[in-house]
Amino acid sequence: MNGRPRVIVTRRLPAAVEQALGEHFDVVLSRDDHQWNPPELQRALSECDALLCTISDRIGAGVFAASPRRARMIASFGVGLDHIDLEAAAAHEIVVTNTPGVLTDCTADITMALVLETLRRAGEGERELRAGRWTGWRPTHLLGRKVTGRTLGIVGLGRIGLAVARRAHFGFGMRVLGFSRSTISSETLAEHGVEPVASLEALLAEVDIVSLHCPSTPETRGMMNASRIAMLKPGSFVINTARGDLVDDDALIAALINGHLGGAGLDVYAGEPHLDRRYLGLEQAVLLPHLGSATRETREAMGQLAIQSISAFFAGDVVPNRVV
Ligand code: NAP
Repeated sequence: MNGRPRVIVTRRLPAAVEQALGEHFDVVLSRDDHQWNPPELQRALSECDALLCTISDRIGAGVFAASPRRARMIASFGVGLDHIDLEAAAAHEIVVTNTPGVLTDCTADITMALVLETLRRAGEGERELRAGRWTGWRPTHLLGRKVTGRTLGIVGLGRIGLAVARRAHFGFGMRVLGFSRSTISSETLAEHGVEPVASLEALLAEVDIVSLHCPSTPETRGMMNASRIAMLKPGSFVINTARGDLVDDDALIAALINGHLGGAGLDVYAGEPHLDRRYLGLEQAVLLPHLGSATRETREAMGQLAIQSISAFFAGDVVPNRVV
């Protein structure tokens, strides 16, 4: 193409990424960092060659139907793609890319943080201390559950699921069971300390903690429903750093309230940034605001991947991390 591609960015990005974008493209940066609605996304697609969006931008079929449309590619800043209607993108011949891999370690780290905080009641403890209610060390104060040596179930043995397994098994001496859709080689399972199980149900029956690492798809939405939660042993824990809609909130909240579950550690919610407000009243729930990949290093690396994909597309090269 003649001249530099015009790239519109929907959200603020780390300063180093915004600067690099300016060096490569005719870039329009977000000033106020607000979440765009469908008309704003439609307008952007009619005014740019590439849209650099994030997982907070919901790009459904209606957005693609915008006319006239100028954009030929969408680079999504994130690995999950449930916010984009990929079939509609393909139908409109729009290339879509994501930023996998560079956020694996940090998302696995925050998963372990949630395991630790939930089982060790760290949120409750901090709230008590900040409220001035701490009366000092005593043998029965805020007793949690031991993490080391417990059995962890990983659902979705992809990049993040395997990275969590490795940390849990080799770092915390946990027995790790894993269930995934595709078959994983025995070498990979051994390298990450995972014992495979044949079904999700078999995994749920054996673990003390279940951690979700699947993408949100029609197949996985609501996978942690009331009957599956009932299969967990009494006092078990649910950790979700994948996507909020994998969990049936009514079922999870009921199991936390009636004591079947010992606790839940959540980084993601259906309908973010809104969440079922009943979670806020549950001491045994540790709640993070979608922080999985939120480190400077990772967000800068995600930006670099997006820049590489956009540059390759407009240079006519093979586009890295192309999903459509
Ligand atoms: P990935 O490498 O593609 O791993 C996903 C795994 O889930 C794959 O092994 C996949 O199997 C498996 N899977 C898909 N459907 C399944 C099903 N129905 N039952 C069991 N397993 C199933 O992706 P990733 O990089 O690990 O990321 C995983 C997800 O984490 C993302 O999609 C995103 O939603 C979420 N995430 C959250 C954060 C955060 O900030 N909290 C950050 C990054 C990512 P196949 O190989 O058969 O497809």
